[in-house]
Amino acid sequence: MAELVQRYLDQIRAEHATNGDGAVADYIPELARVDPAGFGLSLVLDDGFCYESGDTSTEFTIQSVSKPFTYALALDRFGFEAVDAKIGVEPSGEAFNEISVDETTNIPKNPMINAGAIAAVSLIPGDSADERFAQIHAFYSAFAGRDLPVDEAVYASEKATGSRNRAIAYMLQSFGVLDGDPDETLDVYFRQCSILVTSTDLARMAATLARGGVDTTGRRLTTPPVVLRTLSVMVTCGMYDAAGDWVSAVGMPAKSGVGGGIAAVLPGQLGIGVYSPRLDGRGNSVRGVAVCRSLSERLGLHFLSKARESRSTIRASYDVRDGIRVYELHGDLLFAGAEQVLRTLDDECDRFEIAVLDVTRVDDVDSTARRMLAGMRGALAAQGKVGFIVDPDSVLEAPREATFGTVDEALATAGSDG
Ligand code: GLN
Repeated sequence: MAELVQRYLDQIRAEHATNGDGAVADYIPELARVDPAGFGLSLVLDDGFCYESGDTSTEFTIQSVSKPFTYALALDRFGFEAVDAKIGVEPSGEAFNEISVDETTNIPKNPMINAGAIAAVSLIPGDSADERFAQIHAFYSAFAGRDLPVDEAVYASEKATGSRNRAIAYMLQSFGVLDGDPDETLDVYFRQCSILVTSTDLARMAATLARGGVDTTGRRLTTPPVVLRTLSVMVTCGMYDAAGDWVSAVGMPAKSGVGGGIAAVLPGQLGIGVYSPRLDGRGNSVRGVAVCRSLSERLGLHFLSKARESRSTIRASYDVRDGIRVYELHGDLLFAGAEQVLRTLDDECDRFEIAVLDVTRVDDVDSTARRMLAGMRGALAAQGKVGFIVDPDSVLEAPREATFGTVDEALATAGSDG
């Protein structure tokens, strides 16, 4: 039944596939050479389950999507006070590579622009560039759940041509923000930008943030306050000077990079990773932004919509008699909750002939969840199974013939059917 969700994602991606607007980054030849048509969309749920659509195994350089993770690492290793003394949390409204600091504090305005990101790199403890990079690399890899490779050609090229970033680093040194050798810090920054990821890696990294910094094996990678702070600056500054548009239209903490990647986080629910290398004038992936917009609208993912906890949608499930299994749902039913229900039915489908979905205790259902559960009965029928719904208040607005007022009524019908 997870295929209902899969089809939905494929459809949303397909709607944007023909959009050829924008241009791939060409400030170094290695980036200009990528296939502009590449387009991957990955969605990783709170429990680690992953949906993939399109070119989700194409590797590309993480570029600025790295920034929130290095900031998180700096906070984790160095502490809030020390980091806050060097990097602000105010949106800048400037281009990502602006050579500027805050006029009053003389520190970078936030960690999502290059100045702040370079300052964050300088705070990662270590005696050499190699040591610092090793920590950064291990941290990202843990978030992604695999050992991430590095694109050596992009790294060499970034390093050979990065005058603007060099100007930023030396400016920071002159303001007393960078203590160490600016060139060593830049070397680590260029390597960090050259780490290779797929859209699925980004979705997994985002999902680890969505889970408050705990990976799917239960290992804690950083603390909840660090994640909270990181997500906060992603909300206000993650999409460069398009942050306002993004928050209004999409409403998820996110970060983009000139490699064409976007990572977006819906706390407590899911992570999204998109890859499409053609960029708009601000350096954001054109189709990446468009597809995130559609996902947010169609799946009801805006973080300021009245979403409450949806993780514990299935309150109880039990067998009443051979072949009949009841699933009691509660709380508000939104995308992630409905997805959990469909996938549980998939996982347990050899345990029942008839599934009874009891939504008596569900408070509120959004249109996405309603559509998804409406598809459930058809999908069960395709597998030769039957789905009954117990819905005394008609919150699902499902057809009457499959809907019952109580579990007993459903069971009576199930009994006479069987
Ligand atoms: N390597 C690029 C830079 O530092 C990354 C920029 C980006 O993704 N916005 O300029």
